[in-house]
Amino acid sequence: MKAIAVERDSEGPTVIEKPRPEPDEGEALLRTLRVGVDGTDHEVIGGSHGGFPEGEDHVVLGHEAVAVVADPNGTDLAEGDVVAPTVRRPPADGTNEYFERGEPDMAPEGEYVERGIVGAHGYMAEYFTSPPEYLVPVPRELWEVGFLVEPISITEKALEHAYASRSPFEWTPESALVLGNRSLGLLTLAMLEYGVDSDRSFATRDFERTYCLGRRERPDPTVDIIDEIGATYVNSNETPLETVPEAYEPMDFVYEATGYAPHAFETVEALAPNGVGALLGIPDSWEFEVDGGRIHNELVLHNKALVGTVNSHVKHFEGAVDALAELPAWLLDDLVTTVATPEDAAPAFEYGHDQIKAVVEFDRL
Ligand code: NAP
Ligand code: BGC
Ligand code: ZN
Repeated sequence: MKAIAVERDSEGPTVIEKPRPEPDEGEALLRTLRVGVDGTDHEVIGGSHGGFPEGEDHVVLGHEAVAVVADPNGTDLAEGDVVAPTVRRPPADGTNEYFERGEPDMAPEGEYVERGIVGAHGYMAEYFTSPPEYLVPVPRELWEVGFLVEPISITEKALEHAYASRSPFEWTPESALVLGNRSLGLLTLAMLEYGVDSDRSFATRDFERTYCLGRRERPDPTVDIIDEIGATYVNSNETPLETVPEAYEPMDFVYEATGYAPHAFETVEALAPNGVGALLGIPDSWEFEVDGGRIHNELVLHNKALVGTVNSHVKHFEGAVDALAELPAWLLDDLVTTVATPEDAAPAFEYGHDQIKAVVEFDRL
């Protein structure tokens, strides 16, 4: 079967031939439909994040997938079920308390592998195998956009954790600011603007005023989407993050999806008293000057919180399925800028300003 991988000495992703995997007992065989590409994949390709499975000289890419059950192999799944696989799996030396509790997203480094990212092959292949407990059902009519369940689940978890930090008091947020205007930022902006009507989602709150900060000049396709969502575009070249309260208003909630490390600290300045910032970006080591005293003082005297959050688990995937079902069709159409084939996958890895979300389509339902 065809798979898209990064090999030890290759410049970028290449198409390789691999044997179709045989499901072990307790695993199902999945036929891959679509796999999305995000900033993390570019980091894996560039070598700044992730790593090969032990003893191997390549990693199959892809952690945002939608697939169909090809062979339930004795599991409770049925042939034809459409599913989104979660990302984390137990490490080679076996399971641990985080997996046993169903909270692999809270496992520290070394206590997990991530499919398509670190220590395990991903989903950019015609077939893959998985135990059923890591497969979340996706309604058939959503198969074309089902690869967005994973990135949306990242925001479901971030919202759960950030809002939990505000739960001891009467928090009535009205303003929200998203930093970053690629796929994760734009999906999150829409969730915050529209809210999700579901018991399973943590995105039920719709903010009265939403903003999205980027560094691009108009005209730009991502800024067009921000306008269409009804949010305010903040150009960080004109309005640096720490001046947002003065230029617009202090923010009750900030969601950082840039990986630009200074934003983590400037977020504290952008927050309103009692506000919370969720940090999602995964920057490299980077030394720069900050006024640590001022940040410390702001956090304390204004009861502000910063929450770092990574990955997600099954509950967040389930909320994400409901959130995805409520996102408007025009948004999903505009977000998906490239649908590539495994035979000609290169366009999926281009990352110019007109690329928002690229996807490799292995098969159709
Ligand atoms: P991405 O495609 O790399 O997008 C990054 C976005 O940040 C782009 O819109 C980029 O703008 C913007 N940006 C970068 N530096 C900026 C700056 N100085 N000022 C303003 N905007 C800036 O990544 P993504 O897939 O959307 O994900 C966003 C971040 O979250 C990445 O760092 C990714 O690694 C991380 N992530 C984390 C998790 C998690 O579990 N914590 C999950 C998924 C992703 P331009 O496009 O104009 O360059
Ligand atoms: C993935 C997460 C993963 C994180 C860190 C993100 O792009 O969506 O599932 O935990 O990268 O590797
Ligand atoms: Zn990702």
